[in-house]
Amino acid sequence: MSAHIASAEPRHDWQRDELLALFDLPLPELLFRAADIHRRHFVAGEVQVSTLLSVKTGGCPEDCAYCPQAQRYDTGVTAQKLMDTEEVLARARQAKAAGASRFCMGAAWRSPKERDIPKVAEMIREVKALGLETCATLGMLSGQQALALKDAGLDYYNHNLDTAPEFYGDIIHTRDYQDRLDTLEHVREAGMKTCCGGIVGMGESRGQRAGLLQALANLPAHPDSVPINRLVQVAGTPLHGTTELDSFEFVRTIAVARITMPRSMVRLSAGRESMSDELQALCFAAGANSIFYGEKLLTTGNPDTERDLALFARLGLRPMPVQEAKAAAGHRNDVLGSATVHADITEPATCCGRAA
Ligand code: SF4
Repeated sequence: MSAHIASAEPRHDWQRDELLALFDLPLPELLFRAADIHRRHFVAGEVQVSTLLSVKTGGCPEDCAYCPQAQRYDTGVTAQKLMDTEEVLARARQAKAAGASRFCMGAAWRSPKERDIPKVAEMIREVKALGLETCATLGMLSGQQALALKDAGLDYYNHNLDTAPEFYGDIIHTRDYQDRLDTLEHVREAGMKTCCGGIVGMGESRGQRAGLLQALANLPAHPDSVPINRLVQVAGTPLHGTTELDSFEFVRTIAVARITMPRSMVRLSAGRESMSDELQALCFAAGANSIFYGEKLLTTGNPDTERDLALFARLGLRPMPVQEAKAAAGHRNDVLGSATVHADITEPATCCGRAA
C-alpha cells in the first residue's frame, strides 16, 4: 500500500480501491493506522458528547426503508406536532446539566415548511442563549432556509448521505442523492458546519460501505462530524429482518472513516445501545471520538447516562471540553484552508447526527 493511503492530511480524491485496500487490512494493522491518525489530530482519551432531542416525531412523508418515522410504515410511532419552545428549553437545560456541550434538534420532515422556520429559529436562539452549541436536522433545506437558520444562530446542520450512491436507490425513492448534496451545499454556503454520515448494516456490500465513505470524504469539505449509524431494525420497516452486520466490519468502517476524514469527529450514533462495552471500546480504539449521550436518540433507544459514565470510567475516557473542540475546529480549518471557504471558522467543530 502506498504511503499516500495512510496520509494524515485531509484529501478529497479518494478512490474506491484505496478504501477497499484499507478495509482489507488485517484488523490490528487497520486499527493501528487509524489510531495513529487519530492521535495526530485529537487527544485520544477524549470523546465529544452531544444530546439529541426529537422536536417533531413521526408522520414523515418520505420512504427511507430503515426509518420508523415514515408515515407509510406501520411501526407504532405516533405522529406528533412540533414541540413548544419551552418544552425544548427544559430538555436542553437537563442536557446541559448532564454534561452535554451540544444540543441537537431533530424533526421528521421532508423539508421544513416556511411557516416552521420562525418557530425553529426561536428554539435555536433560546437554546444557544443557554450556552449550548446548536445543531438541527430538519430534512432538505433551500439556500434561503439555511441562511435563516444560520441567522438564528445555528452552528451545525445534520444531513446524511445515508449510503453509497449506487445503493441509495434500494433504500430511498422519495428524494435523490443529488438533493442531499444540494442541501449540504446550501448549509456550507450559509456558513454553518456540516454533520453528515450514513447507516451501515442495511444489506449493503463492503464495496458499498466503502462507497459511502468515499462519497463523504470527497465532499468539497469534510463534514465536521461524521455519524456512523448501525442499522436499528424496527418491525414494520422494509429493512426489518436484514442480516446483521458483523461487529468487526462495523469497527473497520469506523477505522476507515477515521483514516479518510482525519480531522472530523467520527460519531457512534444509532445502534450503540445494542453494542457491548467491548465493541464500543474497539470503536474508540479505531478512532471514534464522539457519541450521543443520555437522551433518546430520536425514536431508537440510546444507552442511558449511567451506563455511559461507567463505560467512560472503565475505559479511562473523558468528555471533550468545549474549548478543545473549538481548538480542534480552528486547527482543522487552518489546515483545510481553501477547501473550507464557506465554513465559519470561528465556531466549534463538533456536531450531532441523525439516527433515523
Ligand atoms: S429518515 Fe428522515 S426523511 Fe427519511 S423517513 Fe425518517 S424522518 Fe423521514
